Amino acid sequence: MTAHYRDLLTKIRLAFPQPVSDRVHDSYFVHSVMRAMDAVDALKSERPILGVRDPLDYTAARKTTLPMNGMSVEDVTTELVTYCSGLAIWGHPHTQQNVVPPPTISSLIGILLASLYNPNLSWDEYSHRIALAEVEVAAMTAHLLGYDQECAEGIFTFGGTGTTLYGVKVGLEKALPGAMTHGVREDAIVFASDCSHYCRYNSVGWLGLGAKNLVTIPTDTSNAIDLDRLRDEAWTAVRAGKKIAAFIATLGTTDAFGLDDVSAMVAIRDELVEAFQLPYRPHVHADAVIGWAWSVFNDYDFEANPLGFRPRTIRALAGTKRQVQHVSQADSIGVDFHKPGFTPYISSLVLFKNRADLDLIRRSQDQMPYLYQFGEHRPGMFTLETSRAGTGVLAALANLKLFGKQGLQVIIGHLVEMAHLLREHLEGHACTTVMNRDNFGPVTLFRVYPEGVDTFRVKERELKDPAYREQLLAHNAYNRKVFAYVHQEAMAGRGAVLSLTDCYRYTDYGEPVVALKSFILSPFIDEEHVEVIVAKILEAREKIGVV
Ligand SMILES: *Cc1c(COP(=O)(O)O)cnc(C)c1O
Repeated sequence: MTAHYRDLLTKIRLAFPQPVSDRVHDSYFVHSVMRAMDAVDALKSERPILGVRDPLDYTAARKTTLPMNGMSVEDVTTELVTYCSGLAIWGHPHTQQNVVPPPTISSLIGILLASLYNPNLSWDEYSHRIALAEVEVAAMTAHLLGYDQECAEGIFTFGGTGTTLYGVKVGLEKALPGAMTHGVREDAIVFASDCSHYCRYNSVGWLGLGAKNLVTIPTDTSNAIDLDRLRDEAWTAVRAGKKIAAFIATLGTTDAFGLDDVSAMVAIRDELVEAFQLPYRPHVHADAVIGWAWSVFNDYDFEANPLGFRPRTIRALAGTKRQVQHVSQADSIGVDFHKPGFTPYISSLVLFKNRADLDLIRRSQDQMPYLYQFGEHRPGMFTLETSRAGTGVLAALANLKLFGKQGLQVIIGHLVEMAHLLREHLEGHACTTVMNRDNFGPVTLFRVYPEGVDTFRVKERELKDPAYREQLLAHNAYNRKVFAYVHQEAMAGRGAVLSLTDCYRYTDYGEPVVALKSFILSPFIDEEHVEVIVAKILEAREKIGVV
């Protein structure tokens, strides 16, 4: 027998926060959140993951159907918590897997508030002061990165991938005016380095240009775009009558923190415009989704070093600043707060140096009759998304206020300091070689070698000497084994979780170089955690023995 719908409705109503303050119910709500937190907390151990990592049964998952009867809030919580089992604890000092940050308390509260009242950023009618918050975060970040606040404009979008898509889309409209209306009827090329993020393929694919319009430029040994090659390719393209949709500069490549020279890339663009009297200015987009945070050091006094970083750290921070300080020369910039900004996903901002650029992708009012009839601020008239959550905005705002510039200097400085300690420790052993020694970021790529390999010469030979191919491949396999051992140990609570990159870069003769990777992004990491890694690597070598 089914109850009358009214009886069921009464129960369902209790599952919503009450529209008019009701203290008793409010505490039920808060209590429910606390119980969920308690239950997740009970999954914690010394290990860098919650609960256990069981094998996953996707076949059974594909057969899931909607149950007839609902559950209580309490039971749903219990269910949901089980899905957290096996998740990595990104803030754990033994988690050094990738560029995934642990979120702060303030950013989580930002997410909660923006979810609780569910503002929609498409229109200030639906988001009011949260729309203002978006403008404030964009202004703060524009200022931090060196854009003129009077002219710049920024919007949050669906990830770092979205920020690149925006940059290339606006560039495409500049190269092929009216593509938004007439479609893409001509080719237009996009330049990016071979260390740039693979989202470049999404951008050209989804924009209708196709991957054949992507020109991937090699990088030098510091993983920065090869400027001579870029200039050559760009001149050749324009000479052949091709149009350029965008140059993508990457500041902070995902794997090795390579930093492209934006200033030189802009100069190459300007030279082209001048030399060929181009009727448009090819767009330069800076993918600084990782590197943006280093701009807090643009005005740091490296001589006086008021925060007391070690000399090696200072050198690395100053080296990053050298490139990051020019990011404002780009026409647009991608920023991920969900990377070195310590917010939950998704919190990505794309900034345009000139607000007018966004007019190129604006729709007309008659295309959207049901919205935007009034109000002052209507980003939904040009954004790719229709509904946009306020979560990313409030999370970013929370952290910018929580840390301030100095807090970000402290946290970024510490991560770099720890990464450099790791490098020092690794370099102190004959069997390990740091691949990105001259890089300045929080990521360390290294290789481990079996007994009898001359690690002073091996890097050079592996990268340059085709006669060394066999050994290179054997060493690739060896590093996979070391990784597997270290990973298995870490999951059992012994040592740190690292990751493996299948192709740190290609050798001159075209083979991929496998490397172990430590991405330090937890503020809880200290010297002892760095030492644990090195000890584990040495242990792995013992266990694997001779190959
Ligand atoms: C992570 C990353 C991206 C993609 O960002 P998402 O937020 O994951 O979409 C793009 N570019 C670089 C350099 C990245 O590291």
